[in-house]
Parts: sequence; structure tokens; C-alpha cells
Amino acid sequence: GLPGVPARPLAVRRVSRRIQVGSVAVGGDAPVSVQSMTTTVTADIGATLQQIAELTASGCQIVRVACPSQDDADALPVIAKKSQIPVIADIHFQPKYVFAAIDAGCAAVRVNPGNIRQFDDKVREIAKAASDAGTPIRIGVNAGSLDRRLLEKYGKATPEALVESALWEASLFEEHGFRDIKISVKHNDPVVMINAYRQLAAQCDYPLHLGVTEAGPVFQGTIKSAVAFGALLSEGIGDTIRVSLSAPPAEEIKVGMQILESLGLRQRRLEIVSCPSCGRAQVDVYKLADQVSAGLEGMEVPLRVAVMGCVVNGPGEAREADLGVASGNGKGQIFVKGEVIKTVPESKIVETLIEEAMTIAEGMTAA
Ligand code: SF4
Repeated sequence: GLPGVPARPLAVRRVSRRIQVGSVAVGGDAPVSVQSMTTTVTADIGATLQQIAELTASGCQIVRVACPSQDDADALPVIAKKSQIPVIADIHFQPKYVFAAIDAGCAAVRVNPGNIRQFDDKVREIAKAASDAGTPIRIGVNAGSLDRRLLEKYGKATPEALVESALWEASLFEEHGFRDIKISVKHNDPVVMINAYRQLAAQCDYPLHLGVTEAGPVFQGTIKSAVAFGALLSEGIGDTIRVSLSAPPAEEIKVGMQILESLGLRQRRLEIVSCPSCGRAQVDVYKLADQVSAGLEGMEVPLRVAVMGCVVNGPGEAREADLGVASGNGKGQIFVKGEVIKTVPESKIVETLIEEAMTIAEGMTAA
């Protein structure tokens, strides 16, 4: 198992077929991957590659780029070639861009069945082109652009409607022997979304891309996504995730990684265990936790650092961590692997913790 990942997972993973999105496997026993989408105009190759580089640096594993025009389609070959991570072209209205994206060497193509007009006639050709190139297709159903036929049948974007749309589209590909597919059924309401994915998970073995669409600004979007993904992933459902936030895409990656880390589905990096503070606190816990977080940001090793306001629960938690401090009396007891290694004045707590963290990290990387 991975260090920092619980030996016993929350749930047995749903059995799904494994597909290959460029260098990243999705489904089967592949780790749940984190993805995002660029916000640049795709045709602006420099800006798009710059943002992809930033996303890659923040931990993004797969990136999606919108392709609403011919200029965007024309930019895909260079972007697909120069990106450090697999690029998925996101196509809404025009089948011709699906072919362009496959030709461009994109790692996958996302299509929206509700949005592509006369798409059904084109499925055979798309299936052939995708199959020849080994390019998987994501069928991305979105509540906001549900097939009119299903909207009429169900009255609104219910879980059943989302699932029917996705499986109908998948069946069109299956008729041509194409099964290199992953599916998403996104909705802005986590309850609808959770039910849709549960139903979908029970009815097919395709890998699933989880998303709460239009989740909102950072605070609300983070919570909606964490709740929805948490419910599904803890049932073993979900193979890749995209957090949608009205914020720069690197924020989405931070949140996505944190969700997977919290569920033990991804190796933890830095974790700060800090107390909420209370009337017993003898130090400004918020400030101390912020300073320690800031000082240790970017550390790549799994390290649990406890920042505790007093000596009641402090030493206990600090002992459970790799490193910690329990404050009291204007001093901080510094713990490493359960042992008090020194006591320092309050003003030295932050720098001591950072120093000790660096020493532990060096030991971990050397090992
Ligand atoms: Fe309060 Fe101490 Fe617990 Fe922090 S560690 S919440 S200060 S009792």
C-alpha cells in the first residue's frame, strides 16, 4: 500500500473496464486521477500551454481544452504534442472537430450527446476514427444540455434522464463495436448527481468521470464537490474526478487532490493536524497553523504535522503525528515521532517545526 493511505479502504472499488487516456490509465485498478480544464482561448497556443504547465505543476494529471471553433481545432496538434499531460478535446456542437481532435493526437475526446446535432449519423465514422487512432471517447452528459427528447420524457434532468442519455449514446458506439468509453453525468445538485452516478455505476462497466457541474465559487463548489465525490468514492464509484470551481483551474486541482487524500485514495502529502482552539488555548492556534502551513507549502513527502493549542490534547495528537507542537506557558514542546525532542520559546515554534520538517523530509527522500 501507499504510505499514508489506510490499509483498509472505505469500499471495494466498483469493477470497471480500464481505458487509457494517453499515459494515464482510467478505470480498473488505476488510481483515481485528478483533472481540470483550461480557461484560456484554446487557439491562443502560448497561453493555453502556459496554463497547462501551471496545472501540471499543481498536480493535474489530465487536462481538457474547449474546442468551439476551427481556430481552436487548428491549435490542437501543437497543444497535444507539447503538453506534459494528456489533453482531452472538449467538443460540443460539431462532429468535424471530433475528427480534427482525433487527427491532432488528442489523448481523448469528450462529446456531449445532447449537444451534437445529427450526431447519431456520425457515430459510425467517429467510432471508426477513434478506434483506428486508439482514442477513447468520454460521453459527457450535462444537466444543462440534456437531449430534448429526454427532457420531454422526464420533464427535467432527473438521474434517470441523465443515465438514459449516457447509456443511449454509449449504445450507439457499442453498435459499432466501440467500447473505449468513459462516462460522466453531471448535475449542479449533488443529490441528483450522486443518484445519477449510482444508477449509472450499476448499469454499465465503463469508467466514470465524476463532476458536479457549475458547482459555484470556491467555498460552495469545494463543499459540493467534496460531499458528492466523497459519497460516491466511499462506495467505490468513480475513476477520475474534476472539481468545477469559478476560480483558476489550479484551485480545482488542489481541491481534487485534497478530496482524494482525505479518502485515503491518494498518498497524502503535507497534512496539518491543528486543533480548533478553545478557552484552554495558550497560543494563537490559527496564526500558528497558518504560519506552519505557509512555511511547509510545496513539501512533496507525506508528513503529518500537529499544531495544538495546549497541553490537554496537545501531546496526544502531537505524538500521533510525524512532528508536532503542544503549546503552553509561552513555550512549545516539539515532538518528533512521539518523543519530545525539545522545548522552545513561543517565538521559535514555527522556525523549529520547519527545520525539523526539513530534516524528516530529507530522511524520507534519502531512504
Ligand atoms: Fe483547546 Fe487544547 Fe484542544 Fe486546542 S488542544 S482545542 S486548545 S483543548
